[in-house]
Amino acid sequence: MNSIQPRILLIYTGGTIGMIENPVTSALEPFDFSHLIDNVPKIKMLNYVIDNISFEPPIDSSDMNPAHWVEIAKAIKDNYEAYDGFVVLHGTDTMAYTASAISFMLKNLRKPVIITGSQLPIGEVRTDGEENLITAVQIAAATTASGEPMVQEVAILFENYLWRGNRATKRSADNFNAFKSHNYPELAKIGLGINFHEEALLRHTHGEIPLEASYSLDTSVMVIDLFPGIDSRTLRHQLATPGIKGIVLRTYGAGNAPTARWFTDAISEAVKRGVVVFNVTQCVNGSVMRRYASGDALAATGVVMGYDITTEAALTKMMYLFGAGIDRERVKLLLPQSLRGELTATVASAGDMP
Ligand code: ASP
Repeated sequence: MNSIQPRILLIYTGGTIGMIENPVTSALEPFDFSHLIDNVPKIKMLNYVIDNISFEPPIDSSDMNPAHWVEIAKAIKDNYEAYDGFVVLHGTDTMAYTASAISFMLKNLRKPVIITGSQLPIGEVRTDGEENLITAVQIAAATTASGEPMVQEVAILFENYLWRGNRATKRSADNFNAFKSHNYPELAKIGLGINFHEEALLRHTHGEIPLEASYSLDTSVMVIDLFPGIDSRTLRHQLATPGIKGIVLRTYGAGNAPTARWFTDAISEAVKRGVVVFNVTQCVNGSVMRRYASGDALAATGVVMGYDITTEAALTKMMYLFGAGIDRERVKLLLPQSLRGELTATVASAGDMP
């Protein structure tokens, strides 16, 4: 839809941006949408049609779970034709998980879904909330020279940068530039103007395909972080978690892990039992690769290489693929392939992708 007045849907989920201080405890607590929007009178100067949907009640994003992701994805799917773009206001703590999850849940997305929030509440005198909200709305309304939506994917806007949502990670609890995508360039740089990097933006080769939304996420997944001193008992206990289908194994450096027999035996037994183990590096920058003998020993156990995927994207990708009812052998084939630009794929995509 390309109306003269851009139509934007704001989905307010909570987070610091809309919080106010509890006068008794001084703790920040989520507050309602009218408080938030009353603090941004300038938004009217944009002359857009801006409607809103709000979580009832709005939440701190530490309380987010897959049921909330479904709520957000449904709000977008149900209103997809009526709006040019979507802005999700969200707490920063789990924003990268939400962005990753929504990117997988919305297949064939051709419109902008811009997620933003702030480090300081919008009602405070000094705040990054007002600027982030206004910039996010402008990005959601931006078009290319040929009138197509400029952003056709899920992205995180924070302070000076627009990042691909499933590539971003929260990197600071107090810096206004709270997010970064360490393995993929910014989609736009925000300064005096909004400078889009069109070569980095997701573009679709096939024409108009309807948006498909998937609301089924399987939470039989977990993250295991390696650390020197990890012991056999703890690791085996985690690997034997009842019902577990997928594990994101956060390894060292280029995907390395202990070479001790007890370790590789424990992993390979779990793989043989049918658990999908996805090897993701603890480094924020760089990729899992076959470089060291310690990585080779792990690869020989049957773990799947995660290359440069973030933990947030790895975990939510597993939830999405298992939730779609895909069998584990195909999940293993799909994990190292790019579905929504979430990793730098070395494996070529083949056939119909979920
Ligand atoms: N705890 C808050 C949240 O994630 C932090 C924030 O919004 O920055 O909801």
